[in-house]
Formats: sequence, structure tokens, C-alpha cells
Amino acid sequence: MPETKETLWSEFLSFMQNRCTRTEYENWIAPIQCIEESDSITLQVPNIFVQEYLLDNYHEALTSFFPKDKKGQPLITFLIKEGAKQQRKRRPIARPKKRSEVEHDLRLNASYTFDNFIEGPSNQFIKSAALGVASRPGKSYNPLFIHGGVGLGKTHLLHGISHFVNQHHKKLQIQCITTEAFINDLVFHLRNKSVDKMKRYYRNLDILLVDDIQFLQNRLNFEEEFCNMFEALINSSKQIVISSDKPPGQLQLSERMVARMEWGLVAHIGTPDLETRVAILQHKADQTSLKLPNQIAFYIAEHIYSNVRQLEGAINRLGAYCRLMHLELTKDVVDQTLGEMFQAPARSKISVDRILHSVSSMFNVRESDLRGSSRTKDVTFPRQIAMYLAKELLGESLTKIASAFGGKTHSTLLHAWKKIANQLKHDEILRRQIQMTRQNIET
Ligand code: ADP
Ligand code: MG
Repeated sequence: MPETKETLWSEFLSFMQNRCTRTEYENWIAPIQCIEESDSITLQVPNIFVQEYLLDNYHEALTSFFPKDKKGQPLITFLIKEGAKQQRKRRPIARPKKRSEVEHDLRLNASYTFDNFIEGPSNQFIKSAALGVASRPGKSYNPLFIHGGVGLGKTHLLHGISHFVNQHHKKLQIQCITTEAFINDLVFHLRNKSVDKMKRYYRNLDILLVDDIQFLQNRLNFEEEFCNMFEALINSSKQIVISSDKPPGQLQLSERMVARMEWGLVAHIGTPDLETRVAILQHKADQTSLKLPNQIAFYIAEHIYSNVRQLEGAINRLGAYCRLMHLELTKDVVDQTLGEMFQAPARSKISVDRILHSVSSMFNVRESDLRGSSRTKDVTFPRQIAMYLAKELLGESLTKIASAFGGKTHSTLLHAWKKIANQLKHDEILRRQIQMTRQNIET
């Protein structure tokens, strides 16, 4: 059965829904009505700007959905809706921005910049890696893989890279996309047999930032497509940055995919230490013009420690409360407004399990390998670090600790401890890695 223009139009609409942000869709696409189907399609638009916007920004989409003339222009007749003109005169509508500007405005959070990212031992390394990638895309770490828990700044850093690139490398094509949006896009193109077009789009990018890759787990078809695209980009030295809630090795993805993600730099973003949390609170308070005495900042930071988003929420809530009630910010006010947000002091007892868990995610090896007897360097080194930390952090006998490592001997443990302790004397990177792992274990 031949497709009618109406089905084409509704397909076009669902394509656009996936393609643009909701605000963009509602402002520019939803007001368009398809009113006629003949050889060409007739669209009624509320004003000339909407027409121009569509033609300026979605020319390619239009010509692939609708018939085009010999010059490749879409055969669309536009009608301006009567009555709408009158209104427009009274309330002029700003000229729409080009799509690229709109994207930057709407898809990126304007405050997620490097300048607004507060550094501390838990995120310094990853921040400089992100800045390195943004300064010299495709030339330093590729891919850069950022992993860490919820609300610790992964999305912030990806947007930070985008802002930096938009500012300093205006010519480079960059796309920051959530894994979900990528999958939606792919579903659409598979349905419309236009995957090639999508591939072309992605392969023309200079930088691709993919947020929350864990959502690719258990989506087999998509994973393969993603992997192909990934390889194509990397092979032509295009920069890829990926964020995830787990290190590559712990994601349920194909070995091929995991291997690709481990090609470059895998870096962990940890929970910020007390001083960093205080600095974040002060920074957020400054931004919202809330006067935050230092001891109050410490008090909040001692009780909210695992998620930066909650620190931000705390400042917003306190700010609103103090403004509405005309109150000075005191400890009592904090107790009243934030009481239920406060976490019970966590410091649960440190155990070999916790150490192994932390080392496994920092160094991207399986916990079972750390306990096992594999002697490949990828495993033995992190295992020695875990042993070192166990001896440092647990007040137990060496024999007992050693047996918790899958039945190793007391002398293996001591040997590991000595080796790492010696290396620490001159290896600054190792010192930082261990400091971060330790912090991760202790919070
Ligand atoms: P994730 O993507 O890791 O879940 P987000 O990047 O969304 O976390 O961060 C959550 C919130 O915390 C954001 O508003 C972000 O700006 C803020 N945030 C996280 N880390 C920092 C930091 N180091 N400095 C300032 N703000 C931060
Ligand atoms: Mg995020």
C-alpha cells in the first residue's frame, strides 16, 4: 500500500521527537500542521520563522522524508496561518537560532563547566584527563572512560568538555548524547532503513561523548552497532569519551566492546572528601548568594557525603528556607530543613571484601581474579595493592588477612606489602591511585 503524506508526516514527527530536545520540538515542530497532500506536501506554519527554522535546520531530514525537486529542494508548500500574523506583530518572536546554537543552549547544562567543577583528590585526575581531551581531542587518551557512582559529576564533566570545545575549537563537530538517545536514534533509523545515514552523521563527528553507557547492557543489536561506530571513530582518531556507573570490566557487554573501552584511559571518579565537599557547598552557596558560615558548611558536609547532587539540593533548600523565613543560617535551621537528608555516619567496618571491591573498580579487574591465582601482571599488581591496603587498614594478623585472599600465605602478603611500600616512595601516580582507593574504602 503506498504511503500517504499523512503517514509520512507522522513518521517525520516521530523522527523529530527523537532528534530534538523537547523544548525545541514544542517550540518549532509541534505548531506545524500538515493540511494537504497532493504531489507536494502542504504545511501550515504559525509564522515565517518556523518555516525558515525547519528549512535551515532539517533540510536533510525533509528531503529524505518528502519528495524533492530537481535541485534537491523539498517539495513543500508552506502556508502561514491567518490570524497568527496579527499576534506576532504585537509580540515579536526572536529569530530562531541555527540548530547548532540551539543544541548548545538546550542540551547542555550551561553551568556544567570546568570552571564550576570543584577539584579534590577524588576527582583531580579525571578532571585533568577531561581537560586534556578537550584541549587536544583525539590526541591524548582515546577513548576516555569515566566511571563512578550517581551524582559525582560524570555528566558535568562531559558537558564541561562540550563547552570547552565549543569555545576553543569552534570548527570541530561535537555531539554529547545519552546512551538512551543513541538507542532511540538507532531504533528510528533501523525502522526507516536509514542506518547508513545515521552512521554517516556519527562518523563525521570529531568528538563523541556518550553518557551512561551502562544502559547499553542487554541491548545486543544496539551494542554491535555502537561498537562498529566506535571503532570507525577511533580508527580515524576521533575523540570518544564515555561515562558509566561501573568500570568496563564490570559491565555486561561483549568482550569486544569491553576491550575497546579499555583501549584508552579508564578513570574513576570517587566520592569527594570532606574538604572538597565543603568547597563544593561554598561554591554552590556563592552562586545562589547564600551566606554560608564555614562551620555550617562542615556540619552539612559531615552528614551528606556520598552524592554531590544532594549537597546541591541542600544548598537550594536552605537558601529557599532562609529567604522565605528571613532567617540567618544556623545549625538549628540546618537541622530543621535538612534533617531527613542527613545520612547516618557510614563508616561501616572495613573488611577485605570492601578493599577488594574498591581495588577491583579502581583497577578494573574482577574481584574473583584478585582472590584467585592468576599471575598476569594486570591482576598481580592490583592484588598486591589490595594486600598492601589490607595490611595498612585492617588491624588483623597477616595470616588471617592472607587467608581472606583466597588462601594466600603470610609471606606472599608481606612480600606484596614491601613491594608496594617501596614503589610508593618514588611513584607519585601510584601514591595518588592508592590514596583514591583508600578514600573510596573509607567513605
Ligand atoms: P552523575 O552524572 O555522575 O550522576 P552529575 O554530573 O549529574 O552526576 O552531577 C550531579 C550534580 O552535582 C550536578 O549538578 C553537578 O554540577 C554537581 N557536581 C558534581 N561534582 C561536582 C564538582 N566536583 N564540583 C561542582 N559540582 C559538582
Ligand atoms: Mg549523569
